[in-house]
Amino acid sequence: MNKQLKDHKQIGQELELFFTNDIAPGAPFWLPKGMVIFKELEKYIRKLTENAGYLETSTPIMVKSELFKQSGHWAKFGEHNMYNLQLSDEADGSNPEGYTLKPMNCPESTILYRFRPRSYKELPLRLAEIGRLHRREKSGEVNGLLRVRQITMDDAHIYATEDQIFDEVSNILDMMIQFYKSFGFEYEFRLATRPETRAGSDENWDKAEKKLAEALEKKGLKAGDKLGDGAFYGPKIDVHIKDAQDREWQLATVQLDFHMPEAFDLKYIDEKGEQKRPVMIHRAIFGSFERFLAILTENFQGAFPLWLSPVQVQIIPIAERHNSYAQKVLEQLKAAEIRAEVDARAEKMQAKIRDAQMQKISYMIIVGDREESENKIAVRSRNGQDSGTLSLEDFLAKVKEEVESKA
Ligand SMILES: [Zn+2]
Repeated sequence: MNKQLKDHKQIGQELELFFTNDIAPGAPFWLPKGMVIFKELEKYIRKLTENAGYLETSTPIMVKSELFKQSGHWAKFGEHNMYNLQLSDEADGSNPEGYTLKPMNCPESTILYRFRPRSYKELPLRLAEIGRLHRREKSGEVNGLLRVRQITMDDAHIYATEDQIFDEVSNILDMMIQFYKSFGFEYEFRLATRPETRAGSDENWDKAEKKLAEALEKKGLKAGDKLGDGAFYGPKIDVHIKDAQDREWQLATVQLDFHMPEAFDLKYIDEKGEQKRPVMIHRAIFGSFERFLAILTENFQGAFPLWLSPVQVQIIPIAERHNSYAQKVLEQLKAAEIRAEVDARAEKMQAKIRDAQMQKISYMIIVGDREESENKIAVRSRNGQDSGTLSLEDFLAKVKEEVESKA
């Protein structure tokens, strides 16, 4: 790590966003300000997926282990990478059954699909889920938000016919590009092919790898290779981004899967009334919210873009007699859904400005005698830029535009 740059754990503490505690290794605690960012990101991804025709669902966190035996996860990841419990319904603890905290959503998503018979008219069926997953990362590998045991993932599973694969993968790649561009990240695609230990026939692997390579090619996207790095059930296209320190991270992924539809005997009725097997496409855009937030925090060094700023505007009355005007300004900002606070402490104006800058608050509004008598506000940005005196209406219009453009 570059000496001048702070890591996300330090920034998370200083700005009161999140922290970890030995009482829950690998599972972060979210403070109110961190939760503002978390919820804004959630809102953004929900909007993107809704616009792309996904339907949101939710499945249980804890299910009987037999589900993961059927899916193949048990054999692949073993008991050591999942949290498994023996639970009994009886008072004396007899006849315990094996349960697992889900390490991924896929097997449960197939239960939603199998809820009733499906017709070709419903395909592609895009089921999204922002779910909490648990994975037993080794304690030596747990690191702040970058590697956690409790993961929030913006997951989705698409059930489609083979003819629909290209359009679906293509739309997902577009969504990934739009998403990562909006944060200003550089990104690269990687095609990850069949691993040594895998499920499914070579014929299906040939077909799946070819389909993904075709999707990249037809979109004119270059992709590096990750030979043998596919999921055990199918090949994938991963998105790698570079952070502020030139470190590379794998975040988004789209995976093509012919195996799980077979393992769970998924079907749909085609135009001729015959039973067919759908394909399953797994995809995540953030990947893990926790990891994405760690990278964002370090990338911006806590100075988040306005739409993510926990406090967007700090109102600074110059003297105590300006507090009630400051309060009036606050009410108007809140009515316009701007996250604002008044610093009414009996401190010097310069000290209040310095503190707001330390807290990386995007804008400061300074109000004194002149502003109050003219019914205006003086605006400064956190990087010291002075926007002069303007009307609250003009400021609100500027701020709204900046929020909406996610600049
Ligand atoms: Zn999946």
